[in-house]
Parts: sequence; C-alpha cells; structure tokens
Amino acid sequence: MESLEDRKQRASLEKAETLNAYAQEFSDMREQIPTGFRAAEVIEANKKRILRVLDATEADWQDWTWQLRNRISEVEVLGQILNLSEQEKADISQVAAKFRWAITPYFASLMDRDDKNCPIRLQMLPSIRELEMTGRPDFSGEEYTSPAPKLVRWYPDRVTINSTNICAAFCRHCLRRRLIGETDIPTRDEDIVKALDYIRQNKGIRDVLYTGGDPLTFSDERVDWLLTELGKIEHVEIKRLGSRVPITMPQRIDSKLCDMLAKHHPLYINVQVNHPKEITKDTARACDLLSKAGIPLGNQSVLLKGINDDPHVMKVLSHELLKIRVRPYYIYHCQGTIGIAHLRTPVETGIEIVEQLRGFTSGLGVPSYIITPSGLGKTPLAPQYQVSEGPGYLVLRNWEGIVYKYENPPS
Ligand SMILES: *Cc1c(COP(=O)(O)O)cnc(C)c1O
Repeated sequence: MESLEDRKQRASLEKAETLNAYAQEFSDMREQIPTGFRAAEVIEANKKRILRVLDATEADWQDWTWQLRNRISEVEVLGQILNLSEQEKADISQVAAKFRWAITPYFASLMDRDDKNCPIRLQMLPSIRELEMTGRPDFSGEEYTSPAPKLVRWYPDRVTINSTNICAAFCRHCLRRRLIGETDIPTRDEDIVKALDYIRQNKGIRDVLYTGGDPLTFSDERVDWLLTELGKIEHVEIKRLGSRVPITMPQRIDSKLCDMLAKHHPLYINVQVNHPKEITKDTARACDLLSKAGIPLGNQSVLLKGINDDPHVMKVLSHELLKIRVRPYYIYHCQGTIGIAHLRTPVETGIEIVEQLRGFTSGLGVPSYIITPSGLGKTPLAPQYQVSEGPGYLVLRNWEGIVYKYENPPS
C-alpha cells in the first residue's frame, strides 16, 4: 500500500505538472510579445535615424529640454522617420486640425517603422477615426467636481490639482484632451495658490495628487515650489505626482531632480505604461533613480483596444514593470472621452484580464480594474469568485476555476 508520505509526494508532483502546463502555455505566447528590452537594437537604429533627420547630437538626445523643444508634431518630419503612406499622412494632417499631436524624439524611437499597428504608434499618432467625434469632452465630469481652480475633489480625504496642460507626448486616449488645446499653458500661479488655499481650509484633505498635463515637464525649481507649498500645509500627509515622463521622456529623470524630490517625502509617483514595448533600458534607469530616491512607484494603464486588450500582453507588462520595481496599481477602463471610441473595449475585457492574472502570476503584478463614472470616483470591478452561499458555508472558485465549499464561521 502507498504510504502517506508517498501519497503526499505523488499529489504534489501531479499538481506541479498541471502548473507546468500553464507555465508552458504562457511561455509560448510570451515570445511573440515585443518588449522594449528585446527591441533594443531596432530602437538604437531608429534613434540614429531620428538624430540625422533632426540634425542633432547624442548630447542633445540626452538633454530633456531638447527632447521637449523638439517634440515631433509635423507630418513631414514623421514621414522621414516612419514609412507612411500618402493616405496616412493626409489623415494625420486632417485630424491634427482638430486634436493636436506631439511626441518626443525618444518616444518616437520606440515606434515600429512599418507596422501601423505598433502599440506606440496607436497610442501617439492621430487616427482618422477620432473625427467620428463620439463621446464627451469631459467624460469624468471633472468640471462639476472642482470646488477650486484646477482642483478636483471626489473623495473625503484626497484631491487632484491639474498643474499644467503640457505633456512630453500627447496620448490619443487622453481623458483631458479638452484641456490640451493648441498651445502649452502651464497653470497660472494664482490658480495654484487658490487650489492650495482650498486645501489649507479643508483639514480633511490628507493626500494631494499633482496631475496634468504632466508636472514633470516643469523645471526642477517649479516642481520644488509646488511640493514645498504642499509641505507647508500641516494636514497634508502624503503627496503624489502622476507623470508619464519617465516613460515618454526618461532623460528628464536625473540625480538633480531626484535629490530635490527626496526632500519632499512621503512622495509617491504613478506612471502610465500601457504596453511592455514602452519599458526600455532608459525607462529602467529613470525608474531606478526614482526608486533610489525613496519614491514608491506605481503604474496606471489604460485598457486600449488593439494595444493591450490581451491577457498575455498585460501579464508581460506586469512582469516588465515588476522587474524595474514599478508596482501595477490600476488598469482603467477607457472612458468615453470625445474622439476615442475606437480605442474602447467592452468592460468584460478588463475583468477577463484581471481574472487571467490573479493566481497565474505574482499578486504584486495584479492591478485593480477601475471604471471612472462621471464625477463619482473610481469603481473597482473584479472577477466573481463567490459562486453561491448557504447557511454556514460559501461556494467559491479558485483562480484556475476549481469550485469548492468553504466553511463560513458564525458571527
Ligand atoms: C484618481 C483620483 C484620485 C486618487 O484615487 P486613488 O484611488 O486614491 O488613487 C483622487 N482624486 C481624483 C479626482 C482622482 O481622479
């Protein structure tokens, strides 16, 4: 007869075999998903080409002010960097008359030269479908929840301040595209001062998030001022920045900036990465500097059709993020902002993605899936793991779909 020890060993091996089959299934898929690290050589070649087109040097490339000043926003220049058809060029020009576009030379170097469906291209280059104009300019209702200039309040204890309309690169799926306009406008000091006054007068606010636009497009001095002013308000316990700059313009993150930021703890930064192709050695360096300055990093992705609406892509994204010490925080359902209907997925797609992450990969790599209804705050949606219940028990299912009964202790 099989001994108890043998039985345990046999059960363990059988279980492990099933788990290996899951692992194998993923590892077959993973090879087909491009990552910034794997594309390093192509990106380097693209960079050299862009430097030639812009008649610039390696030193220019490393200078973030050069990156920002030389954002690509003309279709003629783009046409020298990518292989664009005449139709694509005409479409981009036509959309640009309505919604502006701009991309740093660095972020442009991540774009595939030939593939129209490159995830960076789909996020950054205007699509003719934007002119279908479905959706609402202020889908999240920020303008009805703004008790002070540039400040949005949805919650008892935390607010956001829109510090600028400037970004290093303008995402097509931007929820604040209504504010992007035709020109860069930093928020006026007097509006910031009014927003800070509001926070000073409302002692329940313990968490303030500077968003945008992108606050890291400012000079060190201005970021220092914004954080110093918050630091003077006693009831503000934590500060946050929402920034895509470490991803779209990693040259911005240097030791001088990080030394300054480190004076303002507790400070948290959330970035936005939507596809593993966005994580390169430059992103890794930028995030490493921020982490070493003691800043916990999180990621907020937006679920985008044709870009990351795939559980395997999202799993690789989580892995690439964890490797550079960025914790996946949220996946947002794409809002019905004007002109982006073609990038939206059904809500179920996000739930399915979370379901395929939980258990299949590190809990650290499982973000919450969030819907943001107009002015009502964030609503998390999750897969349903409770199948039913009865007196003294629940019927649950685990991550791989095994249904089981669980004793529910009495109250
Ligand atoms: C997202 C957001 C916050 C922060 O929400 P958390 O869930 O705490 O990250 C706060 N205020 C507004 C207006 C927001 O949009």
